[in-house]
Amino acid sequence: ETIFSAIPMAPRDPILGITEAFHADPNPHKINLGVGVYYDDNGKVPLLKCVLEAERQMTAQGSPHTYLPIDGLAMYDSAVQKLVFGEDNIALQEKRVATVQSIGGTGALKIGADFLKRFSSNSQVWISDPSWENHRALFEAAGFKVNTYPYYDSVNRGVDFAGMISTLKSLPARSVVVLHACCHNPTGADLSDAQWDEVIEVVQDNKLIPFLDMAYQGFSEGIDSDGKIVRRFARLYSPVLVSSSFSKSFSLYGERVGAFSIVTGNADEAARTLSQLKRIIRTNYSNPPIYGAKIVGTVLNNPELHKMWENELTGMRVRIHEMRHKLVDELNAKSNGQDFSFIIHQNGMFSYSGLTPEQVEKLRKDYSVYIVSTGRICVAALNSHNLDYVANAIAKVL
Ligand code: PMP
Repeated sequence: ETIFSAIPMAPRDPILGITEAFHADPNPHKINLGVGVYYDDNGKVPLLKCVLEAERQMTAQGSPHTYLPIDGLAMYDSAVQKLVFGEDNIALQEKRVATVQSIGGTGALKIGADFLKRFSSNSQVWISDPSWENHRALFEAAGFKVNTYPYYDSVNRGVDFAGMISTLKSLPARSVVVLHACCHNPTGADLSDAQWDEVIEVVQDNKLIPFLDMAYQGFSEGIDSDGKIVRRFARLYSPVLVSSSFSKSFSLYGERVGAFSIVTGNADEAARTLSQLKRIIRTNYSNPPIYGAKIVGTVLNNPELHKMWENELTGMRVRIHEMRHKLVDELNAKSNGQDFSFIIHQNGMFSYSGLTPEQVEKLRKDYSVYIVSTGRICVAALNSHNLDYVANAIAKVL
């Protein structure tokens, strides 16, 4: 017997578990629509041209592998601020936004959760029902009680806004509300501008703490359009916490490039906040890795590469959009009158298909098509070679 001999087995991650099962499947036609990764039309994770060019420049320079400052690469942090908040945002002009580089969007959420735990004790966290599966675990691990507010209405296949807003209205001051800034994961259902206005009003009236998670900026309509909710919050209110990520928009998944920002009340408060964020980082992992942030910083700070990036991002967005339309056309043609047009109105990489867990199971067993048991499909993993097969398989299990 050893000290840890009774250690229990932790449950498998639900999404990564799908990938494991996928890899073990010998069927040559197998398709993995479970993960949240963008693939190109040949089923490959793209290496963006702007990224390759930045890497070439970096290699040519041959920089040593020094430590970064605790809050990350300065030219990266400032570029992130402009991209997320918009260059002309009053909060940036007044220097009251504190931004630190983070280990992906997940790391940004964790820095924010630790900060909240330390400086706004007693508050509880509210996440959407459903939400990205890691939100709950992450905030619980940081010591919060995590509750849900109604979000998705599976009958009307859209946002249950009445349920959402009435719950937000009932929350006590300082409640932390996690909001998806765009491209809601897993449903693809976003709020309208008018609905966001109401949410902002409740946040102001009840003095809530909004935590905007933006992992997909650029995947709905474009950088500025997708950033507009964060930007509006930042102009109107403080504090606003923002986690952002370049995993998807730069196809830099494994380099873990993200940022955490807080919009504070004034420049002095921002400086004090930044000092505390650095303390949190220092005691967790000391300072962030260089490579990915240097790539993103190089691209964003070079007008030519920046433009190249936005074009490549547009390419990804347009391809996903096409896949949505083709999937709907195929399903509507094959499904005996069931209407799948709702898929067109969903944003980002995912679609909530409405498939039941039994149908999802049948898809996997009979056709080796892997999707999440909630019916979430990664539309960004469909392509011109596999779409027919997937549509046929879905039509057969309906
Ligand atoms: N938030 C949401 C809503 C996400 O979907 C994801 C990733 N899929 C993240 C955060 C984390 O992003 P990252 O991979 O950059 O840690």
